[in-house]
Amino acid sequence: MVIYNSIAQKIELVKTRQLSLTENVQSFLNKITASAELNAMTEVFPDEALSAASRIEQKILSGTHGKLAGAVIAVKDVLSLEGKKLTCGSKILDNFTALYTATTIQKLIDEDAIIIGKTNCDEFAMGSSNENSAHGPVKNPINPEYVPGGSSGGSAAALAADFCDIAIGTDTGGSIRQPASFCGLFGLKPTYSLVSRYGLTAFASSFDSVGPFANSIEDIALCLQVLAGFDERDSTSAQRETPDYVTGLQSQSNSLVIGLPEEYFAEGLNEEVRGAIEEKIAQLKNAGYTFKSVNLPMTKEAIAVYYILTMAEASSNLARYDGARYGERSPEAVNLDEMYQMSRSENLGAEVKRRIMLGTYILSAGYYDAYYKKAQQVRRLIKEDFEKAFSEVDVLLTPTSPFTAFKLGEKSSDPLAMYLSDIYTTSANLAGIPGINIPIGKDAKGLPIGLQLLGKEFGELDILKVGKAIAESAVESLTFGDTQ
Ligand code: GLN
Repeated sequence: MVIYNSIAQKIELVKTRQLSLTENVQSFLNKITASAELNAMTEVFPDEALSAASRIEQKILSGTHGKLAGAVIAVKDVLSLEGKKLTCGSKILDNFTALYTATTIQKLIDEDAIIIGKTNCDEFAMGSSNENSAHGPVKNPINPEYVPGGSSGGSAAALAADFCDIAIGTDTGGSIRQPASFCGLFGLKPTYSLVSRYGLTAFASSFDSVGPFANSIEDIALCLQVLAGFDERDSTSAQRETPDYVTGLQSQSNSLVIGLPEEYFAEGLNEEVRGAIEEKIAQLKNAGYTFKSVNLPMTKEAIAVYYILTMAEASSNLARYDGARYGERSPEAVNLDEMYQMSRSENLGAEVKRRIMLGTYILSAGYYDAYYKKAQQVRRLIKEDFEKAFSEVDVLLTPTSPFTAFKLGEKSSDPLAMYLSDIYTTSANLAGIPGINIPIGKDAKGLPIGLQLLGKEFGELDILKVGKAIAESAVESLTFGDTQ
């Protein structure tokens, strides 16, 4: 097998005929078949992927290829790909075929990426463990007794199991960063509005973001370069110049000031996770970075505000799955009311129903002011906390999750415990800022530990640069030790 560390290197290997793209795709397909019990994929496109491989190999050889030429990519099954099933992990969309292609997937295809298949996820992206899918739970490839995280658990597992070079996920409250942490991967949630949501099935529209999982910071930067940018089909898309993330990554970054929010290192953080993060902080200090302690006092409200607002938005967004406009229709229903009731009762899962009901309650007359309006006001305060912190520092460094992966079934009967596991990730979505998971080691059980970097609005380049320094520090400190 030919080893490569980045897409850029892979393209070089194809160009110099050291790597056959068709063989490479075939080896990914073989791994998908061999590890089917992980349940990471909802659909695989072997024929399309193989024929794309031979076509793109020619383009690479003739020098006419795109930025992601030959990158094998698996995509979370909440993004539309024309002519392919789009299930969103739900029974209600079991027979739904996408009518058009999401801007994000189209951009990958236009840059000569190879879409190998769709990945499993929590139903409508609601969950933190990938146990809420109509296709069944996804298992963590590091240890199949453990969850891969969620809701983009299938994407994380697919990459960790070596089914692809890059996986695409979505993050509404942590669904890229937390599974990246549980599976030992880099995973980026971009600034809200930087990457198009056109063709993404809405969960909570003012929170949803699309982003990549990769094995290196370089590949995250390259993929973001392709995904970012204005899209007239997304009314919330930002109209601004996209920086050159790939080149920008090469410049020095130790003049950046890193903030440590006290509230993120308080009680409840697993000691092994804390220890691993402190080690990285020490390495960055040695490399010349300045650290500053900061406060984000509204952190304790984040989970409540996040779940109130996302459930409200979800109850509205999911009204379209009624058996008429979208979704399976119950064959037993004999009148209109029954059609709505039975189609939704029979085809939606327990977590989705819980959120629709709570969201409807939150938005109902008499409760709207007490819950929805109040939560919107606190959302503003959370954003202001970050604005204040970012007036003093460039990047915030925190844990991604309070603990490493938990066992399948461990939290699935306790929704509140599951919601609380999102403590460090939801704030970034409330504030609209970018966040990335950097894998930094393993705990005593061999499960990956992740560190989160949060940036200013559109400050992706800063977190990518610090992320690169962290990823390289392990290697550097090793070299340093060896030469002493
Ligand atoms: N775990 C969070 C939730 O259940 C986040 C989900 C997401 O980011 N899609 O809502």
